[in-house]
Amino acid sequence: MAGFYEACSPEIVSSPRVIRFNSSLAEALDIHVDPEDAPGIFSGNVIAQNASPLAQCYAGHQFGQFSPRLGDGRAHLLGEVITKRGERFDVQLKGSGRTPFSRGGDGKAALGPVLREYLISEAMWALGIPTTRSLAAVVTDDVVIRETAKPRAVLTRVAASHIRVGTFEYFAARGEVEKVKQLADYAIARHFSELNNREDKYLAFYREVIKRQARLIAQWMSVGFIHGVMNTDNMVISGETIDYGPCAFMDYFSPDTVFSSIDTYGRYAYENQPKIAHWNLAQLGRTLIALVDPESTVAIDKLSEALDAFPAIYEENWIELFGQKIGVADIQDGDQQLIHDLLQVMAVEKVDFTNAFLKLSRFSIDDGKEFLGLFINNDSVKGWIESWVKRISGSSGAVDAACSMMQRVNPIYIPRNHKVEEAIHEAVEEKRFDAFDALLSHIQEPFRNIEGSDSFATPAPEAFFPYVTFCGT
Ligand code: AMP
Ligand code: MG
Repeated sequence: MAGFYEACSPEIVSSPRVIRFNSSLAEALDIHVDPEDAPGIFSGNVIAQNASPLAQCYAGHQFGQFSPRLGDGRAHLLGEVITKRGERFDVQLKGSGRTPFSRGGDGKAALGPVLREYLISEAMWALGIPTTRSLAAVVTDDVVIRETAKPRAVLTRVAASHIRVGTFEYFAARGEVEKVKQLADYAIARHFSELNNREDKYLAFYREVIKRQARLIAQWMSVGFIHGVMNTDNMVISGETIDYGPCAFMDYFSPDTVFSSIDTYGRYAYENQPKIAHWNLAQLGRTLIALVDPESTVAIDKLSEALDAFPAIYEENWIELFGQKIGVADIQDGDQQLIHDLLQVMAVEKVDFTNAFLKLSRFSIDDGKEFLGLFINNDSVKGWIESWVKRISGSSGAVDAACSMMQRVNPIYIPRNHKVEEAIHEAVEEKRFDAFDALLSHIQEPFRNIEGSDSFATPAPEAFFPYVTFCGT
């Protein structure tokens, strides 16, 4: 749609080599590329005949401050693919050169952040969390100047769409109501077609986006994922996780965990993520006022009411997911307290988040020996276990059933920060991908125990902390 993007071409890069190609994703998308053509295509050096690459415009609230013009400063949308099942996806290159939206940036991406996005987005996918995915990673002979010179890389990313909260903000801030409407109509047709004929379709659209975000953030929380830059330009209408920058999975449980070096005040800390999503959704709501009702006070009332439902919808998802993590499927009074009590003892002793739930899920095998072993002072945990066993034992075999449910939802393998760093370091400094491949193969099957793979499920040594991540732009 004209006015929503600028046509522009990727930059030519030197000697592109495909270092990782996601063949199962390619198959699912029905994409067939001759290996000989892959380096050209996935670096942007070669553009398919019928394609017209473009950079999309968007605005966004970054750390609470509004930037009226951001846009794809280092990404080119190549086009869309439609699968056999009729699903439509955007295919985008990231790190493919300057665009009209680059501002002071160089339009490039370094190999490290590209590999990081590849790993973490694949982990999210395997955990069943909506996310953009990585189709290919290409390394080049060019360099990117960051703190030092790094190998330049290009990532091919696949997304349900790239319509961001910030895309709505871009047009709303310019007073272009007709464009906001066009965008909303497009987003509805693409992601919420069932709402198309409703009279209140823009309000219904807002409600659906709220629902998807509430679910998504609860899913992040349930695996200890911290996005790190939840700006409104990094939140998409489709409800996928997008823009993997300084994101990371929490090691030991501490609700105020922040990894990103630029998040000085902890705005995007683990525990703040639901509040921030709520705030971001309020920004989306503001852009829809003129669409919802000609009378702005009426529109604001309706949108506010929809927005006010966010905490309850989030809480419902949170309790469902954390309930499953402790083997409880039918939530009852007292379950929320039970979960909070566990999280509290975990926080006091800074217990590894992933392993606490994993070891608990092996209770039926070892009577909680491994789980208890995670705590130094385990008196308080013993009391908790008693209440938990009481809660899940109803009939014979109930503990076993709860544990098997827990094993299906509590991952063994997540992209542990020290493993991600090791994989990146080896690739960037030694041009080897063994550590990357080994990590990828584990996180692609997070729930299946692999013999001899303890090191992928073990927390980092003390000396690794504190862990800090960088935006990598
Ligand atoms: P991000 O922090 O990656 O979500 O990016 C925020 C904004 O900065 C977006 O408009 C990006 O396109 C832009 N940006 C990030 N890195 C670069 C870069 N190296 N060159 C140009 N623009 C960039
Ligand atoms: Mg972004």
